[in-house]
Amino acid sequence: MTKVLVLGARFGGLTAAYTLKRLVGSTAEIKVINQSRFSYFRPALPHVAIGVRDVEELKIDLAQALPEKGIKFQEGKVQKIDARSSKVIYTKPDGSTEEEDYDYVIVGIGAHLATELVKGWDQYGYSVCEPEFATKLRERLKDFKGGNITIGSGPFYQGHNPKPKVPENFVPNADSACEGPVFEMSLMLHGYFKKKGMLDKVHITVYSPGEYLSDLSPQSRKAVASIYGQLGIKLVHNFRLKEVREHEIVDEKGNKLESDLSILLPPYAGNPALKNSTPDLIDDGGFIPTDLNMVSIKYDNVYAVGDSNALTVPKLGYLAVMTGRIAAQHLANRLGIHTKVDSYYPTIVCVADNPLEGYAVSVKDDTWYGGNVSVAELAAVNHLKKELFTKYFMWTKGDMALEKFLASW
Ligand SMILES: Cc1cc2nc3c(=O)[nH]c(=O)nc-3n(C[C@H](O)[C@H](O)[C@H](O)COP(=O)(O)OP(=O)(O)OC[C@H]3O[C@@H](n4cnc5c(N)ncnc54)[C@H](O)[C@@H]3O)c2cc1C
Repeated sequence: MTKVLVLGARFGGLTAAYTLKRLVGSTAEIKVINQSRFSYFRPALPHVAIGVRDVEELKIDLAQALPEKGIKFQEGKVQKIDARSSKVIYTKPDGSTEEEDYDYVIVGIGAHLATELVKGWDQYGYSVCEPEFATKLRERLKDFKGGNITIGSGPFYQGHNPKPKVPENFVPNADSACEGPVFEMSLMLHGYFKKKGMLDKVHITVYSPGEYLSDLSPQSRKAVASIYGQLGIKLVHNFRLKEVREHEIVDEKGNKLESDLSILLPPYAGNPALKNSTPDLIDDGGFIPTDLNMVSIKYDNVYAVGDSNALTVPKLGYLAVMTGRIAAQHLANRLGIHTKVDSYYPTIVCVADNPLEGYAVSVKDDTWYGGNVSVAELAAVNHLKKELFTKYFMWTKGDMALEKFLASW
């Protein structure tokens, strides 16, 4: 029987695995390998930091969820992919190394949060990108007595060569991998300190390694700047973070911002397991270049989905789900199941929530890619969109089958 390995189990990997299973049934053996037995709903980790959700509510037990749908699960940390001999080498929880053959592999192990590139991160850095970071920030916020808070993203170490085989305008150059969580967290901090009656004691500065939210249209950026103006949030562009100190942060040029609490989306780089893999599988940043069907431009039996794929810019859940679905549909056809393969068309779709003030900003924008859709809407009802997104993901255990409809609401 054809054997398909799916590496990684968040938006990209889970969408690919569930969709493929739905399409091909028992025609193929599908096995997911993820470094942890648990997967977490990342878009609600900022909610954990401000205390409106608990990590446990966002946890999926893959060892239970996947076999229930007829998909095998193996906990293991991928060390490398040997694309020439169609093998994945991974370490099992007991420390032993396993080599597993595949007919097809779908790579969805995401990008690497390169905290090691930020000096002082271990001592003074805070984030919301993983459950343990969000929990640590939650404790710090509880104790925070006032002062300067900075929030921004580290640089994005994007690959450029070789390029994906797709229209050039689909893959713009990006200074930051994804600033949506920064925008969301900045709104949330305002709500958090307002609720605590401490707004007069905190000064929030948002910074960006390039032009903030450069993936949105000039009108949407203007709308964001106006929201920040009303909330008293300062905005600093072109600040490429290098170091976090006890009371300041420093960029690559030596510029400083006062900061008693430094929250950051760490620099994004290629996943070490991919950098360790067959060299011509990846680009110079450690991401896998593919065509529009998510097939590697070098290895016909390798697919890449989500943040691991060089094609997805910015690194967005919406694009991870789209690429996961397309890879599964394309592979199903190769396995003899005729089905429509969706077309990849990048659009930025996300919702920046501010639950403590009862609203969210919903964004839909394709102007970065040459389109003319540009919506940035602040409304109470948008908060419900984020709630629905969270509940739906948890209810289906990460199977975003209705995502197209959710995103169009
Ligand atoms: C705080 C935050 C909030 C966000 N909010 C939104 C949002 O509201 N909407 C939106 O569209 N996007 C959002 N994003 C972006 C979105 O979360 C990512 O784009 C998306 O998670 C990418 O999915 P992925 O499956 O490609 O990769 P990942 O989410 O990075 O998942 C990779 C998976 O592979 C596993 N893995 C990694 N390395 C290995 C290895 N060596 N071996 C085995 N397993 C491995 C990981 O444990 C993980 O399960 C947010 C991002 C952050 C950081």
